[in-house]
Amino acid sequence: MAYIEPAPIKDRENPFESMMSRFHIAAQALGLEDEVYNVLKAPTKQVTVSLPVTMDDGSIKVFEGYRVIHSNILGPSKGGVRYDIHVNIDEVKALAAWMTWKCAVVDIPYGGAKGGICCNPRQMSAGEIERLTRAYTLSMMEVFGPDRDIPAPDMGTGPQEMAWMMDEYSRAIGKTTTAVVTGKPLVLGGSLGRTEATGRGVMVTALAAMEKLKINPYQATCAVQGFGNVGSFAALLLEERGVKIVSISDLSGAYHNENGIDINEAINYRNKNKGSLEGFPGGEKLGSGEELLELEVDVLVPAAMEDVITIKNAHNIKAKLIVEGANGPTSAKADPIINDKGILVVPDILANAGGVTVSYFEWVQNRLGYKWTGERVNRRSDRIMKDAFDKVYRATQEYDVSMRIGAYIVAIDKVSKTYKFRGGF
Ligand code: GLU
Repeated sequence: MAYIEPAPIKDRENPFESMMSRFHIAAQALGLEDEVYNVLKAPTKQVTVSLPVTMDDGSIKVFEGYRVIHSNILGPSKGGVRYDIHVNIDEVKALAAWMTWKCAVVDIPYGGAKGGICCNPRQMSAGEIERLTRAYTLSMMEVFGPDRDIPAPDMGTGPQEMAWMMDEYSRAIGKTTTAVVTGKPLVLGGSLGRTEATGRGVMVTALAAMEKLKINPYQATCAVQGFGNVGSFAALLLEERGVKIVSISDLSGAYHNENGIDINEAINYRNKNKGSLEGFPGGEKLGSGEELLELEVDVLVPAAMEDVITIKNAHNIKAKLIVEGANGPTSAKADPIINDKGILVVPDILANAGGVTVSYFEWVQNRLGYKWTGERVNRRSDRIMKDAFDKVYRATQEYDVSMRIGAYIVAIDKVSKTYKFRGGF
């Protein structure tokens, strides 16, 4: 292979370059042809829109929105829409590519995409968010579609935003089309099990990894960074399996309790406290949220955002196992430090793929016009997650690489084989 230098990584790691450097290592291990490498490295389509929205005070504010389709080789593209003040095109490009690899790892028939709007939803009213969501959906009519590109929730969005997207899309084409987005409210074509699906997949893969490391869940301790949808359900479900959650955190800080935090109590507290753990009495407050990452625990679940384990703190991580609930929590430069320390990492594109797996089930149910029981959803998604874990673990051994590179190998192998059958121009 006539490979060029690996993608450069600047000081402040660019998430797309972080993704590319792993892609590059896996592509080399696989002996991927240059032609396919070049097809997979560039996103298929990038759309940027400008969205004027009337705010409650009558003024008009213009927001920038993005949708990046990384690939539609495996099928219609799939991926969430993020509302956050830090959203930018490089981040959305990386997240879109991660969706391609994620869908391939769990073997569901989707390509990868991601969307985002640069905004601060915490400072907007429900009406403002609704108008922004409808404006974004209308501007993406040529992109979205149940057989083209299917959005879902991500950071800063949830079932209500998905309901507005579904409604706006349906109005525009003149018929109710539930399968155009996933993560909808249950009453509007949502699937049982979707809300907890990402956290559940984190639990399933964490237990599978603990088995490999011979860690008994009933004697294990765990710290969970981030207490949103992913972190809180991962914590709850791991606690139900006997793991002691000694530390949790959110934007307000980290809370620690050697005897184990009562996760149900923490969730109830957060729900009554405008979504924040601020003042949570069930644990002692640590000096800084980052301290949580360096605690002496068996399992660490970063479930907040990108780039939290970096060259700055990777040396200080003491967990034996990291299960990545968030997308991209470990920077590419931190990978070798973590690997040298002998820490097993269940990478994001495997660990958090439970969400998109149940999104796929939601889409299937919408198209069938039929509703599955929660038991069926969980049974099938658990099996998919466990099979994906085993497949990645086998690749890890076969190629003698980390689980992260093993997961990329499984994904790239599937996408490249499919690409060769479909062919290009
Ligand atoms: N935003 C979630 C993720 O990053 C879910 C995507 C989906 O369900 O399409 O995996």
